[in-house]
Amino acid sequence: MMSKNKKLFFLAQRHIPSGVNSPVRAFRGVGGDPLFIRRGKGAFIWDENGKRYLDFCASWGPLIFGHAPEGLLRRLAQAVRRGTSFGAPTAGEVETARRIPAFFPAIEKCRLVSSGTEAVMSAVRLARGFTGRKKILKIDGGYHGHVDSLLIKAGSGGATFGTPDSAGIPEELAALTLTVPFNDAGALAKIFLEQGKEIAAFILEPVPANMGVVVPESGYLNLARSLTQKHGALLIFDEVITGFRLAPGGAQEIYNVKPDLTCLGKIIGGGLPFAVFGGRAGIMDKLAPNGPVYQAGTLSGNPLAVSAALWVLEQLEVKNFYHTLNGKAACFYAGLENVLCDLGFPAKLNLSGSMFTLFFTPQHVSDYASAKNCDTARYGRFFHACLKQGLYFAPSQFEANFISAAHTPAQLKAALKVIEKALKASGK
Ligand SMILES: *Cc1c(COP(=O)(O)O)cnc(C)c1O
Repeated sequence: MMSKNKKLFFLAQRHIPSGVNSPVRAFRGVGGDPLFIRRGKGAFIWDENGKRYLDFCASWGPLIFGHAPEGLLRRLAQAVRRGTSFGAPTAGEVETARRIPAFFPAIEKCRLVSSGTEAVMSAVRLARGFTGRKKILKIDGGYHGHVDSLLIKAGSGGATFGTPDSAGIPEELAALTLTVPFNDAGALAKIFLEQGKEIAAFILEPVPANMGVVVPESGYLNLARSLTQKHGALLIFDEVITGFRLAPGGAQEIYNVKPDLTCLGKIIGGGLPFAVFGGRAGIMDKLAPNGPVYQAGTLSGNPLAVSAALWVLEQLEVKNFYHTLNGKAACFYAGLENVLCDLGFPAKLNLSGSMFTLFFTPQHVSDYASAKNCDTARYGRFFHACLKQGLYFAPSQFEANFISAAHTPAQLKAALKVIEKALKASGK
């Protein structure tokens, strides 16, 4: 008899292109069919066949408290009784926007939107409108949602499928997007020297996580700041993954670099569709209706998403939240490094706080080119060996995995045993 997962995937493919609503969900990066998830609680998810998995994918980053935390469920239940959308200002929106600068001092004013893609798209338009320039500079393998201008040499699904450039984007538009390899100070200086006057913004994930996790080399983000400033371009940090993940104030707090604009998403919405873009008031005030740059949204600042965001912000302010989470993650990484060392396994663990990627390559991974050296077939075998034993990692080599506050040290320790066996099995 066909399993329920298989049956659903069969049906899904008839009605939804490739059977999924977002490409990396289709498991093409690891082979096999995707699981259909029925429910989640704490660190676990259950598929439609009733099998349980310890979840390291966390809905691709948002679930820093794990699945279905009771406090959030209560808050949402209260909020939904007041209505699901008004298309008019609400007190909750003001409270959310008022609280964000305490986490991100670089955000003096912000707008609330419904997805990371929308936040980035709006920030890019604003940067062009503010500077009066056309060109956007990004990183090879940097992913910023499926914004037309930024689906050029893009990571995440672009990396998984080897389609970093999408069909449907006119060359004339693509020509306005420049790219440089991450961590290459020389390439960055050169492009600003040559085209600095035409660049509206340099947008990057300060700690790229969509080619797998790659950390910035010392001084790189400072160089990005000084070059943009010198040439009159805006610096946009896309912290949709890293914001509220690495520290209360994201990567910009850790590396002490203040961008002009910041994009946030994923964690702040607690798993609801919610994102934010914001920055210097002088730039943000260029938005309509006071300013000339149009930006809007029927569901922007949605009251359910806002109630979730306010709950998330409260929880993140709990004393020692990041210290505890990152300490637990560090313990897991130490165990994983031991396993790799004992096995003499050709892999590199890249990490930042509670997010990590195990790259199946013996070489240091510092940019997109070095990430692409990975043995993706072997990653696929590793992924499936883990899945069989109840561990759910991101179904692609080029993604981040996440440890949440709901993961217990005992669960993580047990996971290491499974990982060790799966690494061994992946060689065959
Ligand atoms: C996930 C992500 C996005 C896109 O967010 P969506 O909510 O999927 O549209 C943008 N930038 C980065 C860095 C992301 O990780």
